[in-house]
Amino acid sequence: MKQNKGKTALQVNPGVIQPPDINPSKRYLKKKKVLSTNEFVKGIRECDITVLSRAITMIESDLYEHRKQAYDIINACIPFSGNSVRIGITGIPGVGKSTFIESFGNYVIGQKHKLAVLAIDPSSERTKGSILGDKTRMETLSVNPMAYVRPSPSKGSLGGVASRTREAMILCEAAGFDCIFIETVGVGQSETMVHSMVDFFLLLQIAGAGDELQGIKRGIMEMADAIVITKADGTNVKRSELARSQYSNALTLFPVPEAGLRPAVMTCSAINNSGINEIWDYITHFRNYTEKNGYYGENRKRQQLYWFYENIKESLNDNFFNNDEVKKHLPELEKEIAECRMSSVAASHKLLEAFLGKK
Ligand code: GDP
Repeated sequence: MKQNKGKTALQVNPGVIQPPDINPSKRYLKKKKVLSTNEFVKGIRECDITVLSRAITMIESDLYEHRKQAYDIINACIPFSGNSVRIGITGIPGVGKSTFIESFGNYVIGQKHKLAVLAIDPSSERTKGSILGDKTRMETLSVNPMAYVRPSPSKGSLGGVASRTREAMILCEAAGFDCIFIETVGVGQSETMVHSMVDFFLLLQIAGAGDELQGIKRGIMEMADAIVITKADGTNVKRSELARSQYSNALTLFPVPEAGLRPAVMTCSAINNSGINEIWDYITHFRNYTEKNGYYGENRKRQQLYWFYENIKESLNDNFFNNDEVKKHLPELEKEIAECRMSSVAASHKLLEAFLGKK
């Protein structure tokens, strides 16, 4: 056998020598200029998308300094906010939300509106994964100059994520976006959050095999101002119509909502752009109707109080868990509870006392 002296299968041959830096001119790239609060507000008011995005990033930041400046920016923007129609859109994954938002969004823009699409992704809380954050969604809208698409804040508690999205909405309104979509996934608590920040709540549903009504939670039904059966095209048209009449019938069993209008039930196909204008017409009708009967303004006032209390709860929570005394005692108390040496009630009292500086 021929000996290959000094050579083994594991030998690593020297590769091409790499340049010291992929982009040697990188050091010449400008650092982002720090903007003052006034500069932020001016940029937002002029609808400078870069400035708007940077301000929203500040809102989403965990850094105290960023949050502090974000509050100043929000405060300065509040007088210019509130002039949009705020629409919540929900439905289970796969129901067709992003396809619908593309089609409906382009229609709304065609009606001479400026549209911002924001999202609340509840999956960020538990799994750190994302049901909504996929970058390839809403391709035409995200390049439309009359639209601004911003994915969900990706970290924090659901309450925190929702509250930051609401703050982002205020900035978008101050930037002149007069139609806001807030998208969420139909998997629980996030709908209540979205419902508490919009004027109109749209529930997307898919036509099933005749048993549509079984899987739907009563609470969501009661929140909806309209139910839209998606994908009403091709062989699905008949089933969608059937689903529509089943929902309509079911809704007559519920009391008439405070808005004074029973939820409308419609069908649409986002792919064929059919049924889309009817949805917009209905939202316009709903707005006019509720403005007249006073529900629209009442609802907004109530929402502001809701977020006032939500923000207090969130700040208390943050303060509590970032407190040094709490951080010091927490692991030991957790252990005592797990080993049944202390009740959870007693442990929580002890921790509260540590937080409040009592012995
Ligand atoms: P999301 O998870 O709720 O955002 O749903 P998507 O918008 O990603 O849509 C899920 C699937 O349904 C995709 O394969 C879409 O192509 C399809 N889809 C969405 N809207 C329609 C529609 O109007 N008609 C038909 N036939 N398919 C649709």
